[in-house]
Amino acid sequence: MVAVPRWDVRDLIDIGINLTHRSFDRDRDAVIARATMAGVATLIITGTSVDDSQRAAAFAGERRATCFATAGVHPHHAKDCDARTIDTLRTLAADSNVVAIGECGLDFNRDFSPRDVQEKWFEAQLELAAEVALPVFLHERDAVARMLAILGKHRPKLAGGVVHCFTGTAADIERYLALDLHFGITGWICDERRGASLVEAARSIPLDRLMIETDAPFLLPRTLAHGVAKERRNEPAFLPEVVKALARATRRDELEIATETTRTARRFFGLPGAQTVDAM
Ligand SMILES: [Zn+2]
Repeated sequence: MVAVPRWDVRDLIDIGINLTHRSFDRDRDAVIARATMAGVATLIITGTSVDDSQRAAAFAGERRATCFATAGVHPHHAKDCDARTIDTLRTLAADSNVVAIGECGLDFNRDFSPRDVQEKWFEAQLELAAEVALPVFLHERDAVARMLAILGKHRPKLAGGVVHCFTGTAADIERYLALDLHFGITGWICDERRGASLVEAARSIPLDRLMIETDAPFLLPRTLAHGVAKERRNEPAFLPEVVKALARATRRDELEIATETTRTARRFFGLPGAQTVDAM
């Protein structure tokens, strides 16, 4: 069962959920129903390849007002890009359920694609985002210097950008803020060992630059009671754990974190119904 948080915000937005992942194949609709029950009313499904982005957009189209999608190619898959990639993403971007280009960026940790290939397709997606006037959903791992250099070049033309699953330092935050970017915080912050430096750093993120995500099925919050998540799979119903951890880290009220992250996400992604959250 999913615990309903004591603050009653019914429209949290999970800005990064890998809902096309095969681990959700058998119970995708039940996952959405549990999210709704937990107050997570809106899911933005992450597109990580051309095929995956097409699936995410089609799925979002069947669940309007609940699901939206991003369209992009993760740096791991940059080596699979070809002459048709950007055209296909451009077509997807015209779909009203597609609210960002990405995830795109640089991953010099795993290096699943050669670095020059990653940079080439990252820049191509930034150019597309500028052309279609959508924000970018950014992935960066062990590549912050190149990321900042490339973003610095393209930022004047970009509608906006969110560094998803941010796990960096206060100094990184300062540099990203200088480019007027946003931050997506995951359950990483719920890990008292691995997330300790993020707990410190998160205090320096302005509230109007902060959004929340599960990155499910990955990054199950460690704060969850043992046995809550069968098979250790993360899902959007667990997003309130991120709200709680952020409230502790920033010494703010949980209700304030919930309300403001939703407000910021609505504005950032241009989601419909941009009224304030229904707090009771
Ligand atoms: Zn990512």
